[in-house]
Parts: sequence; C-alpha cells; structure tokens
Amino acid sequence: MENQFDLIVIGSGPGGYVGAIRAAQLGMKVACVEFEPALGGTCLRIGCIPSKALLEASHLFHKTKHELAQFGIDVGKVALNLPAMMKKKNDVVGDLTGGVAGLFKKNKVAHIKGKGRLDAPGKVVVALTAGGTQELSAKNVMIATGSTVARLPGVELDGDRIGTSTEALSYPEVPGQLVVIGAGVIGLELGSVWQRLGAKVTMVEYADRILPGMDAELGTLSKKILEKQGLSFKLGARVKSATRKGKGCSVEVEGSDPIACDRVLLAVGRIPYTEGLGLEKLGVAQGKRGDVIVNEHFQSSVPGIYAIGDVIKGPMLAHKAEEEGVACAEFIATGYGHVDYDSIPSVVYTHPEIASVGKSEEQLKEAKIEYKKGWFPFSANGRAKAIGSTEGRVKLLADAKTDRVLGVHIVGAAAGDLIAEAAVAMAFGASAEDIARASHAHPSLAEAVKEAALAAGSGALNI
Ligand SMILES: Cc1cc2nc3c(=O)[nH]c(=O)nc-3n(C[C@H](O)[C@H](O)[C@H](O)COP(=O)(O)OP(=O)(O)OC[C@H]3O[C@@H](n4cnc5c(N)ncnc54)[C@H](O)[C@@H]3O)c2cc1C
Repeated sequence: MENQFDLIVIGSGPGGYVGAIRAAQLGMKVACVEFEPALGGTCLRIGCIPSKALLEASHLFHKTKHELAQFGIDVGKVALNLPAMMKKKNDVVGDLTGGVAGLFKKNKVAHIKGKGRLDAPGKVVVALTAGGTQELSAKNVMIATGSTVARLPGVELDGDRIGTSTEALSYPEVPGQLVVIGAGVIGLELGSVWQRLGAKVTMVEYADRILPGMDAELGTLSKKILEKQGLSFKLGARVKSATRKGKGCSVEVEGSDPIACDRVLLAVGRIPYTEGLGLEKLGVAQGKRGDVIVNEHFQSSVPGIYAIGDVIKGPMLAHKAEEEGVACAEFIATGYGHVDYDSIPSVVYTHPEIASVGKSEEQLKEAKIEYKKGWFPFSANGRAKAIGSTEGRVKLLADAKTDRVLGVHIVGAAAGDLIAEAAVAMAFGASAEDIARASHAHPSLAEAVKEAALAAGSGALNI
C-alpha cells in the first residue's frame, strides 16, 4: 500500500474531490480520504443533486397535472408513483458518485476508504472502513470535511418523523401535513417538492422574511409567488419544540397554538464538520462555529494544513467549495491561487427559480454606495410567454457613477442559468452598458437580463 503523497485531501465533497483532481493535474501525487461508501460529499449524496432531481420530478408532476392543458395537451388522470420517482433520484445520485470514482482513476488520485484523523502536521491516520488503520504522510493536507445539519434546542430529531433534509429526500409517502422549520434555501426547496406532490406545507421562520441574507425585494416577491402555489408561511415565529405525538408530531411555536403534523423538517442551516479530526491536539485554530480559520491562501494556523469549502467561512455552496479546492491546489503547486468572492452566484431551485450574484440593495445602502437600478419583468419577455412562465423579474444594480454592475437578482424560470451571464460579466468588471450592448438571442429568457441592463441606463425597449 502506498502511504507517501504530496497532498492528502480529507473529504471527497465538491471541494475535496475537485481540489484533489486539480492537484493531480498539476503533477502532485494525491490521496483523498472519505468514510462514506460513495464519493461526492453532501452535495452529490444528500444535497444539491438529489434535491434537484426531486425538484425536477415534482415540477413535472405538478406541471403535467395543472399546466399542460393550456398548451393543448390532454393527459387524462395523472398519478404519482413515488417509489419510481425516488428510484430515478437514486439513479442520478449513483451515476454521479460513480462518475467521481471514475475521475479519480483517470487522474490517478488514490481513494482511501475510511475516516481520517490528523496525527501530526503531514500525518493522517485513517481508520479504514475495511478494518485496521493506515498511516499516510504528505507535505500538505487539505481539510475538506464539509458541514453537518445545525440543531435547534427542543427539536428532537428521531431520524424519521422529525428529521433533516436527508430524511426529506426519501420520505416513503407524501406527508399529509409537513412543517418545515426554517425558510432558507433548503427549507423552501424541499417544502416545494412535497407541496407539489400533495402535502400541506407550513414554513415556520424565526426572521420576519424568507431567505434572510438575500435581496429583500427578491424575498418579498418570491414569498408572494410561493404562497400562490400553496406554501403557507409563519414568519417572525420562534419554534420552542418539536416532538412525536402518537403517529404524528407536534410543533410548539411561541405565542400560537401547537401545530399538529405528520412530519417535521428541520432546516435552520448547517455548521462546519470537524468531528474526530484531531484539530485541537494539533492546535489548528477554529472559529466560534467550529470552522477552521484560514488566511487568503487557505492556510490554517498550522503550516502545511489547509482547509476549504463548508468547513471554512463563507457561503455554504458547492461551487464556492469547488473554486476554493482548485485555488488551494494551485496555491500549493504554484504559489498562486485566487477565488473571486464577489461574483459567486447563489440559487434557490424553486419554481420559479431565485438567483442572485453580487450586492443586494440593502448591502449597497449600508455601504453608502450610490447605485442605479434597472428591472424588467418576465411578463414582457416573448420566450417567457411562449413557455407559460411569466412570473418574476430581473433586477440589475450598477454603480451610479461608473455604471459597473454591482449585483443582479432574478426571480423567474431558469434564473439559476441566467445568473451565469451576470456572474461572468461581474468577474470581468462589466458595466450595465456592456450587457445592454451585447446581442442576446431572440426569443430567449436572457433578453430580460439585457433589458434590465438597458433599464439601468437609457431605458428598456420592450416595456
Ligand atoms: C439538501 C441540500 C441541498 C443543497 N443544495 C445545494 C445547491 O443546490 N447548490 C449548492 O451550491 N449547494 C447546495 N448545498 C450545499 C452543498 O451541498 C455544500 O455546500 C457542499 O457539499 C460543500 O462541499 P464540501 O466539499 O465543502 O463538503 P461536503 O460536500 O460536505 O463533503 C465533505 C466530505 O467529507 C467527508 N468527511 C468528513 N470528515 C471526514 C473524515 N474525518 N475522514 C474522511 N472523510 C470525511 C464527508 O463524509 C463528506 O463526504 C445543499 C446542501 C443540502 C444539505
């Protein structure tokens, strides 16, 4: 067994596996340690991918049932086959996690199966899944151990009726009543899935708005649209407890009657995961939330130990973790690695989708940056009309003096894809006029981005 490497990556999520591959491409001999049977981390196994598979399937179900008739398509009685829907989701996950194993082979990254612990700088002891231990050594170690679900006092997780996103990705039946604690990205996405499949969903949120942290106007607009679809919201509501009651559950909310339901989904965020890594013994500095503290080169307080992804500060997003994995590998190999944190988009895959990049209006106001604003509704976009998805709008914020794009916020069909144009434009330091003068295919949803850019300048053309 080979035990000597240039780089050992602990964790095979999007940060770790991408960082391992990039390091191998740059000529390093790399090992990646992972204790779960499948590679790909939270994102591929129990996060981004299975949730998007269910969002797509439940959207198709809902659309077939309620929207196809307007296009002149009569389908008769539409029935849900939940086991088949779950199988499709599991197949997608299986294909992609297997794909990572293939990429490791192609790039000669050694996959060490087991739980890794730092014994000393450059020394990782792995409790092997197959039994026994293996000692690995390398000049550099990249911690990419990700995150785990944040708990809420009083909410007694039982791994079944009162569970997390992991359980909500595999409910064996559609709950009659589902209470989702937390109206953030994960809560809204999984709440939408089960609501479309027939559950009555109540979202309980401590803040007085949904999607805390995102542009407020975007949040207000999204809430209205989601309410119309049937999601119900209790905002400014503090959950005191969630407990099993007979075959169902009861959720106690401060100042109101308890809510009886069939299932509870706790979705109040995630916290960095470093359990059993041995960081304390080595003196690796950690923040209040347990995150590994790193400098701009992803170096921890102990030389040779780096950290990236959900386990460090910043938004817990797969693509942020990937960028950091690549930048960290490049820094180790070349002495230079960089992530442009100002142009990292974030997307909520509800229908319509909600996507954002750059600064919100609230952040610009707080920083006292003068800005101009252009917006364009999808109801005035030809393609949106043709596909029957006219809800939402594009909002573009640009510097009042220089016209540089500072933020783009979209609610609308395919917003998660449309935001890529804005992210690239921002990464290149584009002005609103740059976007407005670029030709956009007609008829496309992307024309709404162009029109919002025009609206921030001399005026939109189609409204
Ligand atoms: C339901 C849900 C939906 C999501 N949807 C999206 C989305 O649409 N878009 C998006 O950008 N993000 C999404 N996320 C967030 C995304 O999954 C994370 O930001 C991303 O996975 C972080 O990547 P990472 O590499 O830092 O860590 P992770 O993906 O958490 O991977 C860490 C890996 O390290 C392993 N590990 C931990 N400790 C050890 C150890 N000691 N030894 C060996 N292995 C170890 C773990 O088993 C895990 O596989 C979602 C998350 C959830 C829960």
